[in-house]
Amino acid sequence: HSYWGCMNSSFYDIRRGVPRVKQAGRGGLGTVLRHKRVKAIVVISPRVTGTENGPADLEMLTRVGTKMHREIAELDRYQCHMRAVGTAHLTEIMNAYDLLPCENYRFGSFPKAPKLASTEFFKRFTKVIPDGCWHGCTMACSKTVDGFELRTGPYKGTRVTVDGPEYETVAGCANMSIWEPDWVLEFNFYCDTYGLDTISTSTAIAFYMEMYEYGILNKVRCDGLELRFGNADAVMEFLHRLASGDDGPFMSVAPKGIRRVKDWLIANGWGDPRLIEDCGMESKGLEYSEYVTKESLAMQGGYGLTLKGPQHDEAWLIFMDMVNNAIPTFEDKAEALHYFPMWRTWFGLHGLCKLPWNDVEPADNAETDEPAKVPEHVQNYVDIVNAVTGLPLTKEDLILQSERCYNWQRAMNVWMGRGRRADDWVPYRSMGPVTDLEYLSRQDRYDAQLVEILGLSEDEVRAMPVSERIRRLYEHRRNEYEKLTDAVYYRRGWTPNGVPTPHKMRALGFGDETEMLEFLKRVIAEDDAAGLNVWGGVYGEGESTPDPDQRYWEKW
Ligand code: SF4
Repeated sequence: HSYWGCMNSSFYDIRRGVPRVKQAGRGGLGTVLRHKRVKAIVVISPRVTGTENGPADLEMLTRVGTKMHREIAELDRYQCHMRAVGTAHLTEIMNAYDLLPCENYRFGSFPKAPKLASTEFFKRFTKVIPDGCWHGCTMACSKTVDGFELRTGPYKGTRVTVDGPEYETVAGCANMSIWEPDWVLEFNFYCDTYGLDTISTSTAIAFYMEMYEYGILNKVRCDGLELRFGNADAVMEFLHRLASGDDGPFMSVAPKGIRRVKDWLIANGWGDPRLIEDCGMESKGLEYSEYVTKESLAMQGGYGLTLKGPQHDEAWLIFMDMVNNAIPTFEDKAEALHYFPMWRTWFGLHGLCKLPWNDVEPADNAETDEPAKVPEHVQNYVDIVNAVTGLPLTKEDLILQSERCYNWQRAMNVWMGRGRRADDWVPYRSMGPVTDLEYLSRQDRYDAQLVEILGLSEDEVRAMPVSERIRRLYEHRRNEYEKLTDAVYYRRGWTPNGVPTPHKMRALGFGDETEMLEFLKRVIAEDDAAGLNVWGGVYGEGESTPDPDQRYWEKW
């Protein structure tokens, strides 16, 4: 009765002599299969070799593979150190940049964060065995803790092998204010064992904890659980009760995710509906992954202007936007929110891991024209796909492959009654401070923004109550998101209500799909009649809309 079901790939680890699982966590794929009554898919295959797919140019493939192997082996130790600590290295970086979600994304750093630094997990990882998703991976960033003794649940006292933890799981625990590495391992193990996505599970529990702090939830409403920030025992109890099918009022709805709990709280008249909507970090019913986005408008779009919801596999633009200020205008951000989702989609379409693309970069990457794209590594993938298929594809062709898929999926979302502007809504917690506590924790930053961006005088700001300062920021940031949405839809070839235009679909080669094209035309006409094909942002003096003509798509 949870919507957080992930897909576990089980295998026997011959080096350890133990059965293991690896997870495809996000989006509830495991739940979908469960509802289709598929419990497992068993693959019996002859021995797989590196040339199983009959590459057209083995020499070229070997050359690129060797180059990538050498680069990762030589440079990783000077860059991300992922061969040693996996993605957990991100915890200290995110904390340093105020991006680590703490206490349901209220804060981006926390005094206790060093307790979850990658060095703590490095002490626990088994080091003699390289751990990759597959034997040939040079990066081998998938780490493992062996012989971990469980403290709770049906396997209490048993020594087990824990897969990970990865950054997202560590940061998810920071979000619940759990700062002890062994509790992270316990949470990690049981989520994997019960088939739960660690990201959705931790993000949702963090929201329930915040609601508990405000008294909107309490022990009675939580079926006896004391879901306070930092209460690891209660978190584990929640997991065990979830897995055993507890059907109490809270346990029936809480594992279905934040969206359902928001509706449940509001329907019961518990708490201020706006506070509940603003704090619960979900969009399209999917819980956010573990990054604070308040100071990166592009990343707010990277989470919201997506097909399946707030998941960083489409775009991760925080550093480019917030730290390096490399995409300052709406047009720049829209271009990034076109290119990077297409590029990242390409990895998914081809079943390739994207970490060797930008988690290790060539030593001279910063000197290239577009360092964020890592041009030399893009060429690696062009060479790989050409070596395997024998096709003469260019890097632009790869983007086009994704664009075809992405736009068809968006059109399918529209077909299913979603995929419009209203569906790309994001909670305000992802944009700015919701509560006084949050505002005051970064008061210097927010006060300065009221002066520098909104043009208030320092005296005016000082005279304002915090609630008014929050309101001013709220209006400004919501409007910024709407303007970004206008720019992104325009760049992607969609209407102002987010619908792919027949013109765009034809340009992508769907000219023969008359049923879909007619459907899209009909939807656009309906949106027109409902007054939905208008710019969402309010543009001030000196600002311009993405196109002088609001009905731009009619000219295409
Ligand atoms: S680099 Fe990719 S394939 Fe290799 S272990 Fe890490 S996630 Fe798996």
